[in-house]
Amino acid sequence: ERQKHIRNFSIVAHIDHGKSTISDRILEATHTVTEREMQDQLLDTMDLERERGITIKMNAVEVHYQAKNGETYIFHLVDTPGHVDFSYEVSRSLAAADGAILVVDAAQGVEAQTLANVYLAIENDLEILPVINKIDLPAADPEAVRTEIEDVIGIDASEAVLASAKKGIGIPELLEQIVTKIPAPIGDLTAPLQALIFDSAYDSYKGVILTVRVKNGIIKAGDKIRFMNSGAEYEVTEVGVNSPHAIKRDYLMAGDIGYVAASIKNIRDARPGDTITNVQRPAEEALPGYQPMTPMVYSGLYPTDNSKYNDLREALEKLQLNDASLEFEPETSQALGFGFRTGFLGLLHMDVIQERLEREFDMELITTAPSVTYHAYLADGEMIEVDNPSEMPDAGKIKSIEEPYVYAQIIVPNDYVGAVMELAQRKRGEFDTMDYLDTTRVNVKYHIPLSEIIFDFFDKLKSSTRGYASLDYEIEGYRQSDLIKIDVLLNGDKVDALSFIVHKDFAQERGRIITAKLKQIIPRRNFEIPVQAAVGAKIISRSTIKAYRKDVTSKIHTGDPDRRAKLLDKQKKGKKRMKSVGTVDVPQEAFMAVLKAE
Ligand code: GDP
Ligand code: MG
Repeated sequence: ERQKHIRNFSIVAHIDHGKSTISDRILEATHTVTEREMQDQLLDTMDLERERGITIKMNAVEVHYQAKNGETYIFHLVDTPGHVDFSYEVSRSLAAADGAILVVDAAQGVEAQTLANVYLAIENDLEILPVINKIDLPAADPEAVRTEIEDVIGIDASEAVLASAKKGIGIPELLEQIVTKIPAPIGDLTAPLQALIFDSAYDSYKGVILTVRVKNGIIKAGDKIRFMNSGAEYEVTEVGVNSPHAIKRDYLMAGDIGYVAASIKNIRDARPGDTITNVQRPAEEALPGYQPMTPMVYSGLYPTDNSKYNDLREALEKLQLNDASLEFEPETSQALGFGFRTGFLGLLHMDVIQERLEREFDMELITTAPSVTYHAYLADGEMIEVDNPSEMPDAGKIKSIEEPYVYAQIIVPNDYVGAVMELAQRKRGEFDTMDYLDTTRVNVKYHIPLSEIIFDFFDKLKSSTRGYASLDYEIEGYRQSDLIKIDVLLNGDKVDALSFIVHKDFAQERGRIITAKLKQIIPRRNFEIPVQAAVGAKIISRSTIKAYRKDVTSKIHTGDPDRRAKLLDKQKKGKKRMKSVGTVDVPQEAFMAVLKAE
């Protein structure tokens, strides 16, 4: 029957190894899209994805493939992001699949996220099909990569497809392997409904649209369904598949991946990881869900215009419908007014959310510097979680502070091991082990404070290894550290949103750098503005923003009218993201200055 002809799989890889391009070729080869519709990285539908050339959201599509044996197969393909911030997307998609296509760049070999994603696939008991991509590149060494996959990952790569997604090489072979090697789904059509929600999106007409994998039973429009964890009940309004445009179907059955709409207005009712069942004939147990994602970093989001607070709340709520890992709660800042403390999976995630709020919801925002969650132990033994540095109790009241540590894996060519170790040491890393992947590359493992990774670790890693290093990390727990809070005062007033926490050894230097940086960033006024960094009541460094003498517009008295217009435009844009704090105008950049404090 139909189920035997279904293949559900995810495409996983390190960033840039070619997942999205392989998806493109599969869509083409199966005539899912017409030549006219075809464009590069077709499944990266968000503007932001296209501009940055990265996949942020997973995307599930159905394609039909006529195999060499003459039969037609239904593939449900899920393209996934490769960046470490979005590994939550990958793990959710893998729980819905029966197989994984593992793409490895023939010139780069196995990288940090290759390993991370393979382990996720193995945990989910998936059949893994290795594909060695980009064999067209002059630097490609497919046979070396084949050996590396076998040695490092420990899976059989003797039949790995050698492909060039760019040139369309190897795609027919890959399609056949999907049919012959990835198992058909098993699941009982006649059993009570169990469908795993693995993604959600928001549509202003249909409400929350859920992407589901039906494990058992059948779901169709008109069914009364219950979410087994939240308990919420709804009536299904529509089911269907994306191919890549939405196509309505009469039903989805055990083994299918598709979408379900039920006029759901509240994401809390239908979170990814929940199981849908039928109210009339409920399943006894929910499917295993997902580990709830705890944010790695928090920052404050404030509208530049205070009257837009409610708009920002609405925008965050809508965005949450499309991004289950986003968390926020109201917070107040003396300096910035009303806003939200928002949790992210990493800095790229933070960047993406901020941009989406600005583009999709037309918000103008000030974002404060990201912070990890600290554990502060008070004298009486009580522990408080602090995710906003300005809320760290005074040093006198604290017995000790703990900070989150990550276990980091850095894959790098031999020649750069020294540079990596030097960097990790400087970032308070503690060396764990070093494994040779082959004769030229090593996997170096460190315990490092998460806060140091968040600061400019990745940029530094890239620049000190000429781009050859790749990094993956996971939280491993809390450790006690000698940390203190630094406050920043502008014109004598403490600006809570500029407080930050550092290791004692770096306090003096960071204080000096931040005052120097703010001096450059904060616009002059017609009076002098002292900038100070303080630990408790003690000022540790200062600088002064001089009063301006001349009219600033004289600067743009330039002959070239084009240049003048450009300058004015630039000033206008710069002005947009600015917040008045007392008598001082503080631009967005100033709140991020601590991140670059080196
Ligand atoms: P993803 O991050 O894994 O989704 O990677 P993409 O599919 O976005 O590809 C990353 C970059 O590699 C893009 O610039 C592609 O054009 C390029 N690329 C993908 N496949 C090939 C290939 O087979 N050969 C070459 N030379 N470039 C490729
Ligand atoms: Mg991609």
